[in-house]
Amino acid sequence: MADTKQSVAFIGTGIMGAPIAGHILDAGYPLTVYNRTASKAQGLVERGATWAESPAEAVRGADVVFTMVGYPEDVEELYLAGDGILAASKPGAILIDLTTSSPALARDIAGAAAVSERTAFDCPVTGGEAGAIAGTLTAIAGATERDLEPVRALLETFTGKIFCFGGAGKGQSAKLANQVALAASMVGMADALAFAQQEGLDLNATREMILTGTGASGALEQLGPKAIDGDWKPGFKVRHFIKDISLALAEAEERDIALPGADVAFTLYDMLDAIGGAELGTQAITILYQEEEAAIAAGLDWSRYTSEHEDGCGCGHDHGEGEHECCGGHHHDHGDGDHECCHGEGHGHGEGCCHGEGHGHGEGGHGCCHGHHGE
Ligand code: NAP
Repeated sequence: MADTKQSVAFIGTGIMGAPIAGHILDAGYPLTVYNRTASKAQGLVERGATWAESPAEAVRGADVVFTMVGYPEDVEELYLAGDGILAASKPGAILIDLTTSSPALARDIAGAAAVSERTAFDCPVTGGEAGAIAGTLTAIAGATERDLEPVRALLETFTGKIFCFGGAGKGQSAKLANQVALAASMVGMADALAFAQQEGLDLNATREMILTGTGASGALEQLGPKAIDGDWKPGFKVRHFIKDISLALAEAEERDIALPGADVAFTLYDMLDAIGGAELGTQAITILYQEEEAAIAAGLDWSRYTSEHEDGCGCGHDHGEGEHECCGGHHHDHGDGDHECCHGEGHGHGEGCCHGEGHGHGEGGHGCCHGHHGE
C-alpha cells in the first residue's frame, strides 16, 4: 500500500520542538526541519529528518507545517514576512503554530491564510518538556473538531489530549488562562516552601503532605523537587513565562479586568529577570525568597536589581519618558517615582517591591521575599 502520510515541515527545534518533531518522525512522517540555531536540529537530522536552509525551503511542498518558536515576534516574522511561511507554502497546506503567542496574531495569521488558500490555526500545548518527551502533551486548538480532522493522527503522535476551542486565537486565549493558573500556582509553591523552611520543616515531607490535599498543584508536584534540590535548569524558561504572563495581563487590561495572582507572579518573575535569571527554569522563583548566597550560587546578582531599581522602576528594562517596556513588549504607564507595572492599583515600588509593606532590605541586601521586616 502506498504511503499516504502527509509531508511535514517543523520550524523551531528547541526544548519543546525537538522532542515533538521526534515523535512525528518516529511515527513515519517525512519530516523537514529548520531552526535558527542549526545544531539544535542535528539530532533529528541524524535520525532521518531533512535539514532545510531557511523557513521558506522547509515549508515548500509540505502538506503540514508546524512552528514552535519563542515569541509572538518570531511567529509574526516566520508567517508574514515576504518570504515567510504563508508565501512559501503550497496552496492547501495546513499551518499549525504550537508556540504560546498572541490571540490577535493568531487571528491575523488565520485570516491571511484563508485568503491565500491555506488553513492556519493556533495550537499551543501544555505539559512541559516532560510531556513533550513522553508524547503526552495537551493540545489547545483554536480550531473546531472538524478543522482538526485532517491532522488529528499527526497531532496524536505527540499529544495525550486535544481540546478544541473553536475559532482562531481561542487556543491562545485558553493557553493563557492556563498560564494565569500556573502563575498563581508558582507563587503558591514558592510561598509554601519558603514558609515551611522558616518553620524548620522537612521540605520534601511538606511537599508530599500538601500533594495529598487540595493545596496540591502541578507546580508543586513537578517543579517542587527541582526547587528543593536547587536544580534551576530550564524545562520552561523564565523569559518565556514572563512573555506568557505579559500576554495574559495585556488581554486582561483590554477587557478591563484585574488578575491579582498573575500580577504578583509577574512582579516576581520580572525581578528574577532583572537579576539575571531569564534563562533559568521557572522553579527559580524560589531563589527570590532565599539568602543572597543562593542567588550568587545560581549565577544571579541582586546588585543589578538594586541599581536599576534606584535608577527608576527596577524592572530591568529600558524605558523612556512617561512609559516603559517592563513587561516583555507591553507598555505600561507610570507616574513619578512609581508605576503601575502590574496593572493593579497600589502596586508602587517602594522598598521591598514584591510583597507590600514591611519588607525592607537589610544590610548586604538579599531576595525581596525573605520576610525580614524593614529596619
Ligand atoms: P526554546 O528552547 O527557546 O525553543 C524555541 C526554538 O525556536 C529555539 O531553538 C529558537 O532558536 C527557535 N526559533 C526562534 N525563532 C525562530 C525563527 N524565527 N526561526 C527559526 N527558529 C526560531 O523554547 P521552548 O521551551 O521550546 O518553548 C517554545 C515555545 O513553547 C515558547 O513560546 C514557550 O512559551 C512555549 N512552551 C514551552 C513549554 C516548556 O515547558 N518549555 C511548555 C509549553 C509551551 P535558537 O535555538 O536559535 O534560540
